[in-house]
Amino acid sequence: MKHGSQCPKCGSDRIWAIDKLARPVPGSLRDAEVIHVMAVRVERPPTALDRIVGNESPAELRIVGVFEARICAECGYTEWYANEVNDGLLELSQMEGTGVRLLSTASRGGPFR
Ligand SMILES: [Zn+2]
Repeated sequence: MKHGSQCPKCGSDRIWAIDKLARPVPGSLRDAEVIHVMAVRVERPPTALDRIVGNESPAELRIVGVFEARICAECGYTEWYANEVNDGLLELSQMEGTGVRLLSTASRGGPFR
């Protein structure tokens, strides 16, 4: 459905396209935020300001990707797609404790599931 015009479940050609999925900001009735693929706290080297204020474990939030969706207007079948993810996930996969890794059958002679 991402590039096609028919629902694979019911055959309908009425497909909603949502380029960036969003949700309400918790506690707000007026604001919305984009749904990112991943957000993870990663440690970073301390800055001079960290030393002044006594921040002994400085960290920052790394945010990766956005989701888009296609939704069948007839049956509700939905496909999610992750966009803008490869650079950020590659960086996170090289850091310990992020839980990000690339599974590829090319190096293992797959396909295996
Ligand atoms: Zn459908």
